[in-house]
Amino acid sequence: MPEGGRFTFAHELAHDFGCKHDEDDRGAPRFTVAAQGHDFRTGVWPFRQQRLTVMHRTGTTDTRIMHFSNPAVEFRNRETGLDGETENAQQLSDAACLIASYRESPFTIDIDGPHRANNQDTYTWCIETDHCAGFIDSIQWEYSYDALNFRPLLAGLCVTNRMPLVENLYFRVTVHCSDGQSATTFHTTLNRNGIPPCEESAPEGPSLQTEVPATRRLSAEASAPFQLFPNPAAAQVHLAFELAQPSEVEIILVDIGGRRRVWRRATYPAGHQSEVLNLSDWPSGYYIVEWRVGERRERQALVKR
Ligand SMILES: [Zn+2]
Repeated sequence: MPEGGRFTFAHELAHDFGCKHDEDDRGAPRFTVAAQGHDFRTGVWPFRQQRLTVMHRTGTTDTRIMHFSNPAVEFRNRETGLDGETENAQQLSDAACLIASYRESPFTIDIDGPHRANNQDTYTWCIETDHCAGFIDSIQWEYSYDALNFRPLLAGLCVTNRMPLVENLYFRVTVHCSDGQSATTFHTTLNRNGIPPCEESAPEGPSLQTEVPATRRLSAEASAPFQLFPNPAAAQVHLAFELAQPSEVEIILVDIGGRRRVWRRATYPAGHQSEVLNLSDWPSGYYIVEWRVGERRERQALVKR
């Protein structure tokens, strides 16, 4: 078997740039450059070897060298092309800008925010958009603690959010541009409290914003009256909620069979509240957490691992 490759993908792609085989008809009018493959010999007898550039035709056992024909470039002391005769490298250069402008740059988005963060500290993540030939129509943020189950988050270009306890935080964002294009992207923020200490000294991303006041809350809480995290949960789950005035709150756990157990009944002061609820004596499965204040009842699904 001959050594080397055939570089078929590079060969076919170069055809799209106007490059031709070694014996192709140059046609009329003649190409402005000789966009043709080249072959030559290297070495001395009995080690002489035929060398084929990328656009040279090959038989079933031939290989090519990883060069386009180019009189300015040598391979083993031999020019890989001839001036005005075989110059596919020149054809690639000449066609590059024309081909790059076949299509406008597509709409792209990116999430700028920390890649590593601390348990329950507050950070900000923002969307950056590029090549929207109009205005941003809509932004749909979603977040997840397990990268599988995403929940909607009401937010604009930026979201300020608290890291969950131990769990990582995953974002998925879809943005629609008024020109009809849309794009989706993901961002993962690892919870540094959940990874081995030796990795904690890894450098921060340049975009880490630590000055965000810790009093700012997850935007989803404006719509969701209470929050469960992590979810799915293992031994314990944190339940957080905000009260406008001192109130009696009842937290009830409902299992898949409809059995209810009051988990907590207490009067809480106004402001941000959080509870750690022990799940260790509950079987794995799907639950509903019901949160009651006065006449108000809110429910959320909870998965116990
Ligand atoms: Zn070909």
